Formats: sequence, structure tokens, C-alpha cells
Amino acid sequence: MKRTWSKRTAAVHGGARRSQYGELSEALFLTQGFDYPSAGAAEARFIEAGPDEFIYARYGNPTVAMFEDRLAAIEGAEAAFAAASGMAAVNGALMASVKSGERVVAARALFGSCLYILEEILPRFGVEVAFVDGTDLDQWRAAVTPGTRAVFFETVSNPTLEVIDTAAVAEIAHAAGATVIVDNVFATPVFSRAVEQGADLVVYSTTKHVDGQGRCLGGAILGPRDVVRGPVETYMKHTGGAISPFNAWVMLKGLETLDLRVRAQAASARAIAEALAGDGHLARVIYPGLPGHPQHALFPEGGTVLSVELAGGKDAAFAMLDRLDIWKISNNLGDAKSIATHPATTTHQRLSDARKAELGIGPGLVRLSVGLEDPDDLIADLKSALTGL
Ligand SMILES: *Cc1c(COP(=O)(O)O)cnc(C)c1O
Repeated sequence: MKRTWSKRTAAVHGGARRSQYGELSEALFLTQGFDYPSAGAAEARFIEAGPDEFIYARYGNPTVAMFEDRLAAIEGAEAAFAAASGMAAVNGALMASVKSGERVVAARALFGSCLYILEEILPRFGVEVAFVDGTDLDQWRAAVTPGTRAVFFETVSNPTLEVIDTAAVAEIAHAAGATVIVDNVFATPVFSRAVEQGADLVVYSTTKHVDGQGRCLGGAILGPRDVVRGPVETYMKHTGGAISPFNAWVMLKGLETLDLRVRAQAASARAIAEALAGDGHLARVIYPGLPGHPQHALFPEGGTVLSVELAGGKDAAFAMLDRLDIWKISNNLGDAKSIATHPATTTHQRLSDARKAELGIGPGLVRLSVGLEDPDDLIADLKSALTGL
């Protein structure tokens, strides 16, 4: 009999479907369509498809289903719908949850594209959106008025690594009857406790740690089966946000090594944060895994990303970036390769200066996504880039 698996076992075996060949490594079903045994079988499947019956890859595909079921098993969610990208997942989770005349409350520290959906798209369709400082529970209490349909936040914000108290916000939201939708990228499925903390829909960009080697875009929406296989699937399958079976296969295989990679990257991130703390060129080292972080208790594992603020502002940040050797200047994160990003001029460029200041995205801020290289080499590279600034 199948017992409940731990995350690590689910990551290797969860969701496996075998063909008649009994292949050990999961098969890549690179097919859009499926051949029905009869016209009557086609009709029956369009009325209701069974768990191993597929219609069209925009709706589902065996490789995609393996990825969805494995990720759901790791996360401890009942079901998942895989999406073409993290943004397709964020958009799908929100659009499937709210309608005209309803209210959404969101934390203001958001990834630029998430902000675009909340600030520009939803209001176009008559959805009222209010923003709060996500770390201030009084602001949530005041903003989540009766009739609020959903709350949305990044559990750990990009790039300033504020950690939101998911359980406390969920309690406030649920008391008002609102659905809790979280973007959980920085927590990763490895360290996530989102479902037990009360998140109703958990969204990932699997482009990040799940692929983990910078190859494919992907995303997922996880939650209760009746919601994911209900309004979420209906919205996603008719609006075309499906993941490609090839990308789903890359992600599925990525899940097998996710735990090892994320734990190694987080251990290196901690070592780097400790090595940089107190460096005179840096005004701040932000890492939730350090005891001095204001929300350390909410995310002691810390994750794989830290941010540093150069005392010398943009010039110093650019000079440091340009002197790095191993660290690549790019904007992905969760990758095996360590990546340094200047958010103010790239990922968060479109925010106004006032908004950047409000979110703490100063000109000296550099986000460091820690990869799988030797942490001593990564520290030496950073120290040598800082020396002489
Ligand atoms: C990258 C990212 C996204 C968007 O994911 P894509 O796969 O690039 O579409 C959304 N939210 C957060 C927090 C991210 O880091």
C-alpha cells in the first residue's frame, strides 16, 4: 500500500505514469493530440475526461500531468495546473478567482510583471486593487474589508527579501471570506509551508529553482482539486497558458534534484551573507537566514537569494558588477550559475523613483542569486570585486 511520501520521495517518484514499456525515466510525450478508439469514446472524453485521458495539449498531456502531480505531491497540495511561465500562472490564478466589482488586496513589494497585472489589467475589468505594506498586519486588517475577494503577495519579496507572515495574513483574509493567493518563488517548494499556513492557491515560476539550470520557462498553480481542476483549469485551458510538454519534462526531471540543489544553494547563500556582513563597502546585507533579519523567525532557512546595498550607490554597484568573474550579470534566479542583478535598472526599472524608494530598491542594491559553484570561490569573487571600490 502507498504511504504518504516525504517531499524528497515525492520529488523522485510522485506523479509517475508509465507506458507499456515500463520506462524508468519518465517519457516525454511530445504530442498535441490523442487518438480516440471510437467516435463514442471521443464524445465521452469531451463530456468528462478521466485522470489518464487526454484531449489536447492545451488542456493536458501525460508528461505535463506527471509534472503537475509530482509538484503537487511535493507541495502538499491536492492538485496543480502547469502554466507556460510564472506570469501565466499568476495571471491565471488571479483571473480565475476574481470578477468585476470585487476587491483584491496585495502587498506592494511585487515583481514588476505581477504589479502590472494588479495595477493595470485587473482595474480595466472593474476589479478594485488596494496595496499594503505586506509586513504590517495592521495594514492588512484595515484593507481587507468585507467583500474582499482575494489577497495576493510574494511570501518572500523580490528583491528586498521581506518575509510575509502567511499564516497571519491568511487568518485575516479568511475571516473576510477572501482567497489567499501567494507567489512562492523565493520560498521554493523545498522550504514552502504555504498550504499548512493557509494559502489557498500557491503559484510558482518554475523557470527559477524547479528548472534550476536556466533552460525553460514554466509555472504552476497549486491548490484544492475543486478549484484547480475547476475555475483555474477552465480559465487556463481556454486562454492558452499551457506549458509545452517538452518544458514540463525538463521541469519534471528538475524536481528530482530540486531538494539537493536548493539546500546546497541556500547553504552557500548563508555562507556568503555571513562573509559579507560587516564589509565596509556595504550599507546592508539582506538575507532572511541571518538572525538580524527582521522576519528571520518566519523563514530561518533563508533561501537561495540575498541582496546587498552598496554604500557608494549606483556607481559602486555597477563597478562591482563589472568586476565580477564567476557571477554572471543577468536577471534569472534559482539557477545553478550564480547571478548578480541590479534591480533598479533592470527587473524593477519601470517603477517610479518614489515607488523604488518606498520598496527599498535603492540605486546601490544588488540581488545575488546563489548557484552551485564552490561558495569559497563565490565569496572570493565578491570580495575581490568590492576591494578598492
Ligand atoms: C520570475 C518571477 C515571476 C515570473 O516568472 P516567469 O516564469 O518569468 O514568467 C513571478 N514572480 C516572481 C517572484 C518571480 O521571481
